[in-house]
Amino acid sequence: MGVVTTIQRFSLSDGPGIRSTVFFKGCNMRCAWCHNPETLLAQSQLHLYPEKCTGCGACLAVCPSGARRAGENGIEQISALCTACGACAAVCFSGALSVSGTEMSVEEILNEVLQDRAYYERSGGGVTISGGEVLAQPEFALELLKALKAEGVSTAIETNFCFPFPLIETLLPHIDLFMIDLKLLDETAHKRWTGLSNRLVLQNIEALDQTGKPFIIRTPLIPGVNDNSAEIARIAEFLSAFKHLEYYEMLNFNPLGASKYKSLGIENPFESARPLGGEALRELSGAAEIHLTKIRLG
Ligand code: SF4
Ligand code: SF4
Repeated sequence: MGVVTTIQRFSLSDGPGIRSTVFFKGCNMRCAWCHNPETLLAQSQLHLYPEKCTGCGACLAVCPSGARRAGENGIEQISALCTACGACAAVCFSGALSVSGTEMSVEEILNEVLQDRAYYERSGGGVTISGGEVLAQPEFALELLKALKAEGVSTAIETNFCFPFPLIETLLPHIDLFMIDLKLLDETAHKRWTGLSNRLVLQNIEALDQTGKPFIIRTPLIPGVNDNSAEIARIAEFLSAFKHLEYYEMLNFNPLGASKYKSLGIENPFESARPLGGEALRELSGAAEIHLTKIRLG
């Protein structure tokens, strides 16, 4: 069994063609701008949307931990008592409560994603495993990838690639396309903004290129972190050495995680950040073009 937050069907941005994307829960990095903050921790979490609460009281009756109580200003949550069991969310019909993180078997995931097999075949798509971090649940990832390949489904992973290469090698034969995040080339800045050094990431990209597997490198453009020409040019120069890089993609800042931070009660350091404008994107694209020809803006 693995822990999954969502399965997104008909995705057009997680690899070629029409895809289903399976989001694993749990990540070894702590990127300060993460737009899927519900995938950071391995365990399930309860999301609260108090503005949707009608005060019906249904959650009070079912909470086995006493974590929901009626207060002076409406229903209150005692977070320290909550085990994220999801009983309250199951009876809350107003959408004021939801749980992220469900244990799923390979069979359950296959039942869902194989419904769209015809779309994958017609569009050149398949299934992408994302997160969170795929490699943080390596045994489950291996089991799922093997099962997908046995069904003839094309596979891709979206990964921060910050794990020992021998672990990556165990999955390699079952992955058709690697989509790797490279957030910063500067090691000190990488540590500061993600919590981890990027040395392993850079070494792994070099090792992957030697295997002949195709890969895509993506950089999320984060205002004040890496949205400058010098950093993007350094990344592009590093990438210019590789034979099996399909293309380099810069992804504009995605502010859509803001409501998730609020619902989880955690601080969002990039709450006021906004996507980059056209001129800034053109400038960064130009910096990458000095070293690379295959560039995309996403
Ligand atoms: S998730 Fe479970 S423990 Fe937490 S408030 Fe809801 S019912 Fe109670
Ligand atoms: S079940 Fe939902 S709507 Fe009803 S009191 Fe609880 S949170 Fe509010």
